[in-house]
Amino acid sequence: MSNSSDLFERAKQLIPGGVNSPVRAFRSVGGTPFFTKKANGATLTTADDQDLIDFVCTWGPAIHGHNHPVIREAIAEALNNGTSFGTPNPYEVEMAELLVEMVPSLEKIRMVNSGTEATMTAIRLARGYTKRNKIIKFEGCYHGHVDSLLIKAGSGALTLGNPDSAGIPESLAAETIVLPFNELEAVAAAFEKYSDEIAGIILEPYPANIGLIFPKSGYLQGLRDLCTQFGSVLIFDEVMTGFRVTAGGVQTKEGITPDLTTLGKIIGGGLPVGALGGRAEIMNHLAPLGPVYQAGTLSGNPLAMAAGIASLKLLRDSDAYNRLEKLGTQVKEAISSTLYEIGLPGQIPQVGSMFCLYFTDTPVENLDEATATDTDRFNKYFHTCLENGAYIPPSKYEGNFISTAHDQGGIDQACDIFVNALRSL
Ligand SMILES: *Cc1c(COP(=O)(O)O)cnc(C)c1O
Repeated sequence: MSNSSDLFERAKQLIPGGVNSPVRAFRSVGGTPFFTKKANGATLTTADDQDLIDFVCTWGPAIHGHNHPVIREAIAEALNNGTSFGTPNPYEVEMAELLVEMVPSLEKIRMVNSGTEATMTAIRLARGYTKRNKIIKFEGCYHGHVDSLLIKAGSGALTLGNPDSAGIPESLAAETIVLPFNELEAVAAAFEKYSDEIAGIILEPYPANIGLIFPKSGYLQGLRDLCTQFGSVLIFDEVMTGFRVTAGGVQTKEGITPDLTTLGKIIGGGLPVGALGGRAEIMNHLAPLGPVYQAGTLSGNPLAMAAGIASLKLLRDSDAYNRLEKLGTQVKEAISSTLYEIGLPGQIPQVGSMFCLYFTDTPVENLDEATATDTDRFNKYFHTCLENGAYIPPSKYEGNFISTAHDQGGIDQACDIFVNALRSL
């Protein structure tokens, strides 16, 4: 079989940049991306036959690790009945019931095929419901590659140095109000200025596509209050945080009820799935009940639903979150005590199985502060970890993830790799 560099050469001939999603290209950290030929549990096996302990977890979805036997079994069973029907199917009903049971703010659900589709539909729905045009988003929050939301977005766009994509008409961008995260006064001022034009606010309640940032105390409640006061729709984009932080997402952890929620990643169990849901009164504006059009040939696909249902049930019926929290804390402590010991400036925000490492001596609360952290040091750290068998995200702007398939031995081994990499800087 071909090795990674041969495959990458072939890929570059036919696929722009050799990748089907830009962050995979290692542009930020430099070097050639490896190809993965298989993945099991917490381990990726590269086309060069190197085994890596995986902290990317397919960028979020793989909370049960790779190739989990229960999820495989569920897909195999669904496969016996066919791959797509184009009619309603029983899995969709079970999925909707499960999501509504596990996320308290959801009264109705629509399944789609990606997180991008979910946020795109959520803002259309907010606009259709309120009959207003403007959307507030925050610098560094990533909501997929939706035109209106790809302005000062985090993740890949930021990694490549263009937070604003080409190809988005100014007239459309003008309807997006972009504000710094964690500054409630800026949001209040925007509502003051455009009071009856703001359809909604969309945010990652814990921004996780510029590393990991936490909201200041009272910030999320403040956004909730402003939306209620001005009749705007509060949209929590929990594509990343939903079922990662707790079963009910950041909204449950923080005790805030958004009007709409977008989900993806984990709810697909490794297959392409997204969803939006929320208050029935708003959701009923979607076609065929209401005037806001949305559709999808493969939406609610039986294989994807079966994988997602299995993934969610594994979380519901286990103490996964307690175990993940313990492992997350262990990694945080290993890294932060080493930083202290060697006198290297660093911040390691962590919640449950999510964390990131910023090389800076001050806490990071917004995009500008994340951008100002030490990129060269991060890139060196990344490559040292990779050479020694731990794959962390190839950009300082991405979150790291632990899965239930990471066992104690694997985490101990990874902590040694992280600690040694820090010492070598
Ligand atoms: C990944 C992500 C998206 C986009 O999801 P895709 O499935 O990649 O389209 C949207 N919002 C957030 C918060 C994400 O992390």
